[in-house]
Amino acid sequence: IETHPNLSDAAPVALSYELFPPRSPAAAETLWTTIRELETTEPDYVSVTYGASGSNRDTAVELINRLLLETTLRPLAHLTCVGNTPQELAGIIGQLLDTGVRGILALRGDLPADGQVTDGSLRYAQDLIELIRRVEQRRSALLCAGKIAVGVAAYPARHPESPSEEHDVEVLLAKQRSGADFAITQVFFHADQYADLLTRARRAGVTIPIIPGVMPLTSLRRLNRLGELTGVEPAPELTAKLAAADTDLERLHIGVDATVDLSNAALDAGAPGIHIYTFNEHQSALEVLDKLALPRRGRAGVRPASTVRPQLAG
Ligand code: FAD
Repeated sequence: IETHPNLSDAAPVALSYELFPPRSPAAAETLWTTIRELETTEPDYVSVTYGASGSNRDTAVELINRLLLETTLRPLAHLTCVGNTPQELAGIIGQLLDTGVRGILALRGDLPADGQVTDGSLRYAQDLIELIRRVEQRRSALLCAGKIAVGVAAYPARHPESPSEEHDVEVLLAKQRSGADFAITQVFFHADQYADLLTRARRAGVTIPIIPGVMPLTSLRRLNRLGELTGVEPAPELTAKLAAADTDLERLHIGVDATVDLSNAALDAGAPGIHIYTFNEHQSALEVLDKLALPRRGRAGVRPASTVRPQLAG
């Protein structure tokens, strides 16, 4: 594993992390240790997930509130729309904006088990982007600090319901036209899938940054669960290495090294940043950063002066 050459040239590289709202007081304590550790790396933002159909809405809003009040971090609030009416969602968007949120990741979320979307509720992420932009317009007098940054999901390995990779790119282009500012990818295990997505997207007219989402996978159970949840086939080499490892430390190194290799390959392909899915744990995320040698003022004390990371609005 080698330091990426672009980084020593201080190429602008965005850095962000995904967190999820804690499900218990003990989990909250671990999460806050993680937040304080990650804060020292000065990420551009931290994204906060949103349970299917808003199942964890209150804990998500509470976490976002605390991030805004008690840390220097900027939250990117995930929001899912399927099965909700525009009125319900406009209320939630308004609540997020009132809290001080200026970045929303607009997602569809999981379809109900029967696959049916109730009449009058939103169907696609694209509908949510348009709604966010309408709410923004209505509140433009209040948003004096600028516009809301709207992110969307992108898929290096085809979305499980999509007929083809080409369709995925058409959907991404539609999201851009509806007002998306950037995309974060679903997990992937093969760098060429990310490079292919970039090529196809650029050829189709997608110009927004497409940030690779990478996940340090340090346990076989988690790898398999991820496959079930996302429909992304776990890489056989990684599965075999994790299965053969004897200790947690070995598994940590395997997961970190695989993530560093994947991130370096994505940066080579032109990735404008790295988004790390953390599982609310800081150790593997920080090890990935150490090995990538991303600028980290605070912990490493080094930050090339010319480093300019893309900023969220507001
Ligand atoms: P869409 O872009 O709406 O696409 C959904 C499907 O519909 C795709 O197959 C697409 O091809 C198709 N489609 C879209 N538009 C059209 C159209 N106009 N005509 C025909 N077909 C169309 N889920 C959560 O519940 N909570 C989270 O916090 C969360 N965070 C995520 C973060 C990231 C970075 C990613 C990549 C995913 C996240 N997800 C989350 C999962 C996401 O909700 C699922 O992947 C979901 O199945 C699709 O969401 P989407 O926003 O990509 O949907």
